[in-house]
Amino acid sequence: MATSIPTTQRAAVAIHYSQPLIINTGHPVTQPSSLAPGECLVKLDCTGVCHTDLGTTKGEYPVKDHLPRVPGHEGVGTVVAIGEHTMNKDVKVGDRVGLKWIAEACLRCELCRSGEESSCPNQKTHGYTMDGTFQEYCVSYVDHVTPIPKEIESADAVCILCAGLTVYKALKQTNTVMGNWVVISGAGGGLGHLAVQYAVAVGLRVIAIDTGDERKELALKLGAEKFIDFKEVVDLVTEVKVTTGGLGPHAAIITAASGPAYDQAVLYLRNAGTLIAVGMPPNTVSFSIPIIYIVAKSIRIIGSAVGNRQDAIEALDVAARAKVKCYYELADLNSINKIFENMEHGRCVGRTVVKF
Ligand code: NAD
Ligand code: ZN
Repeated sequence: MATSIPTTQRAAVAIHYSQPLIINTGHPVTQPSSLAPGECLVKLDCTGVCHTDLGTTKGEYPVKDHLPRVPGHEGVGTVVAIGEHTMNKDVKVGDRVGLKWIAEACLRCELCRSGEESSCPNQKTHGYTMDGTFQEYCVSYVDHVTPIPKEIESADAVCILCAGLTVYKALKQTNTVMGNWVVISGAGGGLGHLAVQYAVAVGLRVIAIDTGDERKELALKLGAEKFIDFKEVVDLVTEVKVTTGGLGPHAAIITAASGPAYDQAVLYLRNAGTLIAVGMPPNTVSFSIPIIYIVAKSIRIIGSAVGNRQDAIEALDVAARAKVKCYYELADLNSINKIFENMEHGRCVGRTVVKF
């Protein structure tokens, strides 16, 4: 059992919805003696900041009884303690591990047994139903932490634990083959810029949709064949269709938290195309497209929430072999409210990573 674990730490805490997070330098650290079997304490090197953290702290999602809460669900750090009587011996003190949105799933229910851990009704989620990675020491579960390959730096790996994992899993569900067209909507954001790279890596032709010169430059550099600025284009649907030769793309992964981005996808997708729903607009936003288009075009709409433990390992493996690289700015935890503000006003390109 580890020694020298402080009793307090620095943490960013959400106290009230839509209010700035409070930086608490005296936040308690769970002590090793308090860890239950199966729990571990991870000293974090860094955390990514995901748009979902903004959504949870604004109370945009259905479950709203979680405050006060330490947000954050993309973490990499070192295991410093493991609960006594833990059965799983694969994870050891000193291991470098990743923490993701799914902190724990039961692994026994039908969904878990069929690899759908992210839909487990008994799940706990970092930064939402339990404290997350906007703190120096975070409790997690040995059965669910992800081993980090030695070839990749923590700050390069951290965005794969949510952003990379989510789009990797989303891409698996597009029903596409090499040479097909895929639209990545939100292509300059944390998830989107990784989605462009995973798609290019499997031989897909990418149309990137986002806004601004910086995001355009990034998306094209990462291998997108076409960039469409959703704020500048006159007729986005026609522009997408024309780019693909008329029929429209085979698939679209919507990583933008935008209702119109979803509606547009139904219109520009080719018949029998696949829409993967990843971006999460607030509770109040719905599809506003006539259902007849979805039926008549035989559009497949698939909701995709993060991914399972195996998806995380696979997504990290691709990044560790440098096929996919996260573009990020480093920041300090003290600037978390500024990071949220930038994200909300569309001023972030790629990801922001907080180093502890
Ligand atoms: P981000 O803010 O980094 O990126 C979003 C991008 O979308 C930005 O670049 C923005 O300019 C762009 N955008 C906004 N409106 C657009 C539009 N109409 N068309 C095209 N692009 C548009 O956010 P992120 O961290 O990448 O997260 C993206 C979304 O995915 C959020 O809603 C987040 O909550 C959600 N998310 C879902 C899962 C999941 O499991 N399904 C996992 C993580 C994040
Ligand atoms: Zn996330």
